[in-house]
Amino acid sequence: MKIICIGRNYSEHAKELNNAVPTAPVVFMKPATALLKDDKPFFHPEFSKDIHYETEIVLKIGKNGKYIAPKFASGYISAVTVGLDFTARDLQQQQKEKGLPWEIAKAFDGSAVIGRFLPVEEVPNMTAIAFSMQKNKVQVQAGNTADVLFDFSSIISYVSQFFTLQQGDLIYTGTPVGVGKINIGDVLEGYIGEQHLFTCEIK
Ligand code: ZN
Repeated sequence: MKIICIGRNYSEHAKELNNAVPTAPVVFMKPATALLKDDKPFFHPEFSKDIHYETEIVLKIGKNGKYIAPKFASGYISAVTVGLDFTARDLQQQQKEKGLPWEIAKAFDGSAVIGRFLPVEEVPNMTAIAFSMQKNKVQVQAGNTADVLFDFSSIISYVSQFFTLQQGDLIYTGTPVGVGKINIGDVLEGYIGEQHLFTCEIK
């Protein structure tokens, strides 16, 4: 199982980090050891003083495929949830300045939080999924997949040129504006619409 992530897929978020709005999807990956599920807590590592939450819609791939055409791509999604792409912003900034890869800032243990998956049949409109995240019961991020720069079909088609998609792979589809720092003691809760899909306590 692999975890593929799309960066800068909402233009307002790209701007808040002073990044250019991309013309092709920005792709990075996390290993399976990054996965944090079943509402397990996140233990804040010592290597970063500035870990950010990024709330994202996460797709689960339901069948294997390569060179998937956009018109067939939706058939490869079996389920959807909301998750967090934890990012060590201080390390990422250092890596970006040096032109180095992001893995130490993005792919660390527990950096890929996922909620309970909803089968696609239960999601009425995949092109307009409203999602949000509350930190300590206050909403800090809200997005809608209608606002993405690259829609799910474009993402699946693009990444499947490079990586064979396999059943069970996950794709994080990017965060809307409003990312921010986590602190020990915070409780983060993710929603699709009104449905509560994860709780993640920072320890
Ligand atoms: Zn992200």
